[in-house]
Amino acid sequence: MVTPRVVLVLGDQLTPGIAALEAATPERDVVLMAEVMEEATYVPHHRKKIAFLFSAMRHFAEELREAGWTVDYVTLDEPDNAGSLEGEVRRAVARHGAAGVIATEPGEWRLQTAMEGWEDALGLPVKLLRDRRFLATKAEFADWAKGRKALRMEYFYREMRRSYGLLMEGDEPAGGKWNFDHDNRKPADEDLAFPEPPTFQTETVTREVLDLVEARFPDGWGDLSPFRYAVTRADAEAAADHFFRHALPRFGDYQDAMLEGERFLYHSFLSQYLNCGLLDPLDLCRRAEREWREGRAPINAVEGYVRQILGWREFVRGVYWLEGPDYVERNELDAGRPLPAFYWTGETDMACIRAVVTQTREEAYAHHIQRLMVTGTFAMLVGVEPRQVHEWYLSVYADAYEWVEAPNVIGMSQFADGGVVASKPYAASGNYIDKMSDHCAGCRYKVRDRTGEDACPFNPLYWDFMLRHRERFGNNPRVARVYATWDRMKDEKREATLRDAKSLLGRIDAGGRV
Ligand code: FAD
Ligand code: SF4
Repeated sequence: MVTPRVVLVLGDQLTPGIAALEAATPERDVVLMAEVMEEATYVPHHRKKIAFLFSAMRHFAEELREAGWTVDYVTLDEPDNAGSLEGEVRRAVARHGAAGVIATEPGEWRLQTAMEGWEDALGLPVKLLRDRRFLATKAEFADWAKGRKALRMEYFYREMRRSYGLLMEGDEPAGGKWNFDHDNRKPADEDLAFPEPPTFQTETVTREVLDLVEARFPDGWGDLSPFRYAVTRADAEAAADHFFRHALPRFGDYQDAMLEGERFLYHSFLSQYLNCGLLDPLDLCRRAEREWREGRAPINAVEGYVRQILGWREFVRGVYWLEGPDYVERNELDAGRPLPAFYWTGETDMACIRAVVTQTREEAYAHHIQRLMVTGTFAMLVGVEPRQVHEWYLSVYADAYEWVEAPNVIGMSQFADGGVVASKPYAASGNYIDKMSDHCAGCRYKVRDRTGEDACPFNPLYWDFMLRHRERFGNNPRVARVYATWDRMKDEKREATLRDAKSLLGRIDAGGRV
């Protein structure tokens, strides 16, 4: 008999064609999947995120067994659970008398570095294979980036469109333009009918996992129920079908809108399935293109959707691996405040932040503009230490893995990488939220007040932020206009603005209610 190898499948590698499985054979090898405390707690993950992943892992193990694999599945409550991936691999090697380990590269530097040390630590060959689910390899991205003064997603995206032939008419972009974003910034009208994403029944496996998470993480953050997530490939596909049929046609138009009672609008609510391997990025892009070619969705919606996946998703992954393990420590704007407690409690008078935190606690989901322009912008204006902002985002969203979360947070939302991801900071006063949402109407603060007790906190904090960083941004042609506006303001108004900002920051520092 040939000695088996242990084939490790991680919780975000739930894809039948994942490299480690392709390199192994069901007749010889044993698949190892393990729920371990170290991975569940290295940041305080949302309890729904933990339950979603454990349930999806258990269902995937069953899928592999049905396909003929021997799967050694270690649950979190198994008495001998070693608590770490390395410990579980070590135990599995001993259990099966394995000759080696086969794994697919993980999605973050922390694990990558650890896994590179396993060969020495375990004293047997460990094959770490490239994750082929991404559409640009790390090397291809590095080649593209080489010698460029600035990395801009738009140019990378065009190359990706060309190389995959997506939305192309010969050498030209379909519809005559690469980017239809100009058509995509409509505020939402409350009369629109929004298609809720489907809710899936919690069956036995999910119920067991929910009980386990409740018992093991009694003080963890985030609501476990109601639980609406798909946990099987078939259900994730059904969620994608629902999106293509009901939401994609209007995806573009209202991509940046926010409404108090509508959490999903026309967003896909699919990133959690995509990022753990239940859905395939290229397949989703091709399906979106088909919707346009067959006349069921307009080009602005389809191009916008494809750009998010083929462009942004691949671009941020490229940046993450290119920039190295210290990327999450970047703090170019020298921000040092602790994260305000209301990011966890939701106890704030700011209606916009309260809505996003409440929704995040209940759903483990917020859409892009909520993440970027509400919680993200506020943390940047206040000057929260980026590492703390990063850990919050990595914890609270069901789709959060460092390769995708960190460039979005450290780079796009906090400008802490000094402009690698974004060409200018996403700083804004309350006006932006007022234009794109209905939050301000029900807020204790007045968005039109620039100064005074009732002024929207975003207003003075915006100016305070811009002035703190005038030296850095004053020469940026995309921002310089802002300083001209400030310089034209009356002295009293400027003084009052800065005084209010100081008082707000003092209140935040003292843990007072804002
Ligand atoms: P849709 O709005 O329907 O978009 C379609 C798809 O495009 C998404 O499913 C996603 O796969 C992809 N996508 C869109 N924007 C981005 C982007 N900027 N980067 C990468 N992929 C993108 N996305 C994550 O997957 N995980 C994260 O941890 C994460 N953290 C974020 C933190 C901040 C501060 C910001 C500003 C953005 C973050 N994003 C993250 C990107 C984006 O907000 C989410 O991908 C999106 O909200 C997921 O919801 P959806 O599936 O409904 O997306
Ligand atoms: Fe947010 Fe300001 Fe509007 Fe209140 S007034 S909801 S704090 S933007």
